[in-house]
Amino acid sequence: MKHPDDDLPAFVNGTLPASDREAIQAHLAGCEQCREEVHWLATLREQMQNDPLPAVNEMGMARLMKAVRDEEKQTATSAPGWWRGALAAAVLVVVAQFGVITSQWQQETVYRPLGETVEDARIQVRFVETASEAQIRELLDRVEGQIVAGPSALGLYLIAVPEGASVEQAATTLRSAEGIVEQAMVESAE
Ligand SMILES: [Zn+2]
Repeated sequence: MKHPDDDLPAFVNGTLPASDREAIQAHLAGCEQCREEVHWLATLREQMQNDPLPAVNEMGMARLMKAVRDEEKQTATSAPGWWRGALAAAVLVVVAQFGVITSQWQQETVYRPLGETVEDARIQVRFVETASEAQIRELLDRVEGQIVAGPSALGLYLIAVPEGASVEQAATTLRSAEGIVEQAMVESAE
């Protein structure tokens, strides 16, 4: 039997009709590859339930992405193509919830220069874990800051401010945002 890849997410979510469910259960009994896929989907689903989307902030997102990346590393050598496709789709669904900040998302866990738009100095920020995306966005608007990289493995973001603006002043504003910013540090670019 062909692997029922397309139906596995619905199977894990419990949204599959009973007749299809039985067919998949029968397939799973004899297919380790699909059992592993179900296990992974269930893990992802659990993570998302522990961090419900409306309350997920960037830190929660960073943890989730890290878990996904770790999982990907472990299985990358043996995973068939369809598995990576399913992973990409799942990540896209999650990432799509993040609007403006997500559009700035960087896959790398290390900072990288932004080419021609590199500023003389940028601010390294760690947001409070409970800060909402709206709070962060409002704060960034206030300093006209833009997330240019992050989060790093440690949950740090790199914020650039427009040319001519005072980086020190922006950092002070960020630091004083109680309940949103845990730390803000001016960092000189290379
Ligand atoms: Zn299978």
